[in-house]
Amino acid sequence: MTAQFGPSYVRAIAPYVAGKPISEVAREFGLDEANIVKLASNENPLGMPESAKRAIAQAASELGRYPDSNAFELKAALAERYDVPAEWITLGNGSNDILEIAAHAFVEKNQAIIYSQYSFAVYALATQGLGARAIIVPAVKYGHDLDAMLVAITPDTRLIFVANPNNPTGTFIDGPSLEAFLDRVPRDIVVVLDEAYTEYLAPEKRYDSIAWVRRYPNLLVSRTFSKAYGLAGLRVGFAIAQPELTDLLNRLRQPFNVNTLAQAAAIAALNDEAFLENSAELNAQGYRLLTDAFDRLGLEYVASDGNFVLVRVGNENDAGNRVNVELLRQGVIVRPVGNYGLPQWLRVTIGLPAENAAFLAALEKSLATASA
Ligand code: PMP
Repeated sequence: MTAQFGPSYVRAIAPYVAGKPISEVAREFGLDEANIVKLASNENPLGMPESAKRAIAQAASELGRYPDSNAFELKAALAERYDVPAEWITLGNGSNDILEIAAHAFVEKNQAIIYSQYSFAVYALATQGLGARAIIVPAVKYGHDLDAMLVAITPDTRLIFVANPNNPTGTFIDGPSLEAFLDRVPRDIVVVLDEAYTEYLAPEKRYDSIAWVRRYPNLLVSRTFSKAYGLAGLRVGFAIAQPELTDLLNRLRQPFNVNTLAQAAAIAALNDEAFLENSAELNAQGYRLLTDAFDRLGLEYVASDGNFVLVRVGNENDAGNRVNVELLRQGVIVRPVGNYGLPQWLRVTIGLPAENAAFLAALEKSLATASA
């Protein structure tokens, strides 16, 4: 008999499914990498800001040394931007790292974590990795049902994950609803408010979650430099919370979890307001283009406030995978979401105008192939 390693709750984990890399699709389908369009990982289609590239070039000469473990300058820049003490900030190797650390810091094996159906896959992974119990609350219109999430609270619940906007659905909870929710969550339960896409929100939808952090000692706001700031490959995210929470995060955080180049680039990107504005504007235009086309093609989609759209590409059970393969053949990489329980849907990241056009052309062909 072969040995079985590790706890059963670890063996039960289905690994995270990432967007396919361009090089892999080129190899698999015999395509030229230059002609492949990747709209699969909610990256900023503008790439990294020039300001960040310059900062990286400057910081490169310091790579023989360890990074500043406490990231003094980046924390100072964030503290100033959000008007909070630097002690309220914890940096992560991407905001994924923050989500994982938070689960480990606040929850014990066999205690419960609440999150919504169709919410970001890492909440399930973080929960399972601990051997904690997941309470998955059914979604309403593909988004969070905050009232039901409150009702779902049990005596052993220690953490609630809320994604706003949510990935992969793009659904959004308005500020007043979130605030009313926070008011009703018992103070001994940590709420992790994951705002990975918050920089894409239209001005009239924005709300001040940092003001809530000052009021609610059980609130942790998670943000990232991977999306609108264009630094996904560098891996920088951060949490803002009161010291009672950050103190615990810091005990578990790996000492050098954000590298030297990432720290330098994040400071530059944080101060590059023009880049952020361009990114949001380009995203809004791309969203209109894609959703107009979906309307024209008669495809159902979920209204999104992120930099991606979830679209239903067929009625048969495996429509998402089937259309996905047709798209890959044409060199377009999007994200099938069968692993989220959405096998008829694809999630497409909003790209540059030419990328969106290439995706739509390929999609129309794929749909025609399917119905032929
Ligand atoms: N939260 C949400 C809702 C996301 O969609 C993502 C990226 N897929 C993350 C967190 C993590 O991103 P990162 O680790 O790059 O900050």
